[in-house]
Amino acid sequence: MSQNKFWYQCVDCGIEYDAKSIIYLCIECSKHNSANNPPKGVLKVHYDYNNLKGIDLITEYKAHNNNLLPLLPIYNIQSLGTLQVGNTPLYQFNKLSGSTSINLFFKDESHNPTYSLKDRASSMVSAFAKEHNINQIITASTGNAGSSLAGICASQNQEAIVLLPKSAPKAKLIQSAMYGAKLIPVNGTYDDCLTLSKQISDELGIYNRNTAYNPITIEGKKTISFELYSNFKGKLPDYIFVPVGDGCIISGLYKGFEDLLKLKLIEKIPTIVAVQAKGSAGIINNLETESFTLVASKTVADSIQVDVPQNFYMTRNFISQYKGATITVSDMEILEASSILSRNTGLFTEPASAAAFAGFINLQKQSIIDSKVTCLILLTGSGLKDSSSYSQQIKTNYSVEVDISEIKKLLV
Ligand SMILES: *Cc1c(COP(=O)(O)O)cnc(C)c1O
Repeated sequence: MSQNKFWYQCVDCGIEYDAKSIIYLCIECSKHNSANNPPKGVLKVHYDYNNLKGIDLITEYKAHNNNLLPLLPIYNIQSLGTLQVGNTPLYQFNKLSGSTSINLFFKDESHNPTYSLKDRASSMVSAFAKEHNINQIITASTGNAGSSLAGICASQNQEAIVLLPKSAPKAKLIQSAMYGAKLIPVNGTYDDCLTLSKQISDELGIYNRNTAYNPITIEGKKTISFELYSNFKGKLPDYIFVPVGDGCIISGLYKGFEDLLKLKLIEKIPTIVAVQAKGSAGIINNLETESFTLVASKTVADSIQVDVPQNFYMTRNFISQYKGATITVSDMEILEASSILSRNTGLFTEPASAAAFAGFINLQKQSIIDSKVTCLILLTGSGLKDSSSYSQQIKTNYSVEVDISEIKKLLV
């Protein structure tokens, strides 16, 4: 096994690390990390782009079951296992109720094995673990990362240990348990789970999947970019709306496009619009600040409810380097956007994903987005994962007697 396929570079100080041993954060930069500040020293995976120039992306892609093996931190595509991760549907709905016609696309990531985009990261981490003879993986999660790791590990004959807040949506807890993970609900926040899981990794030497902390998570999530490149036959949308919590999905998206840019397969990265909930906007609120201001987060969109974003610095760098846009949306806007989406498209998405669509609606209302552009909304997870968030939206607190005349009254 060649060890030169890829290496790591610290996004803060630029020091490089080879990939011979398992490493999480840059040793120097992470020395002064504390739980109240975004971690310094997140590592970015680099490849020998010069040697990869001229690769025939489409041929490579098809040869490796729609994966771009030369640009993945693994050596064997079989390591990814049997579940179908990715290859999710892309839909076009140009005219949604109340909006003017626009080239509007949705990438439905709820079609992943555990119903969220997180599977792209979990399957890459699981494959990486397999290639390093590791059988046990721990993660902290708001819900989806845990259920995703649990499902992927079940399929790969690995053991998942999942720490999540005991307040996580029931469906996500049940999912993790059904997949046979060692499920540990914590009487605390997601941020508490992060700290605890890192301590356990340190003390017991258990391989850690925490988002961004493990650089392989970003490499997994970036596969969405390669897939979009293939879906759109190289002509990428002008705007891509992404829900943002820790900033790992958005960074994965940027990283994938950056890889393609370095290989000169694309000339420009689309304008990526980072959407956060107003009550959990740690990244957007600190884009310009000297030091990070911690605000306790609160939003209906649990998957993007994060106090201290774990991939803050990389996300901030990407947004600034590639001139990304940002918008925050209220919980009301999120719930309403979800309802508009479901009614008009048949796509039922969890609040975090609906936030991305809410961001689009908001910018369109302000006429910042016009009918000439092409927009893509990343629908990151299924509505069934968090259906209780919507219980206020529907009126099921009545029933009729077994009497057809009562039903007829309701239908006129
Ligand atoms: C994790 C998650 C997000 C946010 O991704 P980050 O990498 O934390 O920014 C958005 N939507 C869903 C459904 C998620 O599970």
